[in-house]
Amino acid sequence: MIGSRLRTSTGVRGGLRGLRSWTLVLFSLIMAAASVVTASDDTPLLRESPVIESVLVIPVRIHVLESSELPEANCVLSDEDLGRIISKLNMVWHQATIHFCVESVVREQAEGVARFKILRELSSGELPLGVYAEWLPRGSRTKGMLHVYYVHELPVNGVYLGDGVALVKETAALHPVPEGLDEPLPRVTAHELGHALDLIHVEDVTHLMASGTTGYRIAKDEVNRARRASPKWGVQRLDDLKRAAELSEVAGKKDQSRRLRGWIAEVEALAAAAAPEHPVQDPAPPAR
Ligand SMILES: [Zn+2]
Repeated sequence: MIGSRLRTSTGVRGGLRGLRSWTLVLFSLIMAAASVVTASDDTPLLRESPVIESVLVIPVRIHVLESSELPEANCVLSDEDLGRIISKLNMVWHQATIHFCVESVVREQAEGVARFKILRELSSGELPLGVYAEWLPRGSRTKGMLHVYYVHELPVNGVYLGDGVALVKETAALHPVPEGLDEPLPRVTAHELGHALDLIHVEDVTHLMASGTTGYRIAKDEVNRARRASPKWGVQRLDDLKRAAELSEVAGKKDQSRRLRGWIAEVEALAAAAAPEHPVQDPAPPAR
């Protein structure tokens, strides 16, 4: 197994310092998709290297919705914001030796705006969350990967809509807990992807699957469940990626091979650096 337990002596500051180091490592990889980066000395959350063959890579397409007619749908996250969010999201999911690789970032216009406005006019109370799915363009969605959509405002921080589709608002806010994540968006995104990986809500506020907190622990049984669920979303291991990269090179698909080589570098750097520690002695909290 790759993990050990969360270091109890690490305070919030130490944890965040480690997180920042980790974020820097992954941020450079995701944005540059180039050289292998090794861990700095200042990585208190990162101690043991995972067995590289055990890393599960799940592709995710990031959609940033824009709209001049509907301010709630108009997300203003920059590429730099997205890089930071994905780095921290991965820091959380490395507890399960799962690594999300960005397949692409799509900036696109929200759909169904006129219809949404009519529904809102007609509605006396809060709209059902399913109505917000109408904003999401279907043409840019494909099977075999996860899709995360960022919008400006929703009645909730985020929602998993099923079929690999998660919706997250950039204005998300969370209740802080000790040693929690230092910003809401990576935590909300990691939580919604947890639902995509068959995880359900738990009561322990320090855990990723608690509702509305900054907690990010993943229990051992959740690790197992999430890893079992991952084949639904086109999961690949390092060998699969290497084979796919070689095939795309032979076929002259330069963009695809560049992307795959970037993912391979991310996984190799993850193994070279170290994995975040896993709370092994954490009993499974009761489901809601
Ligand atoms: Zn939830």
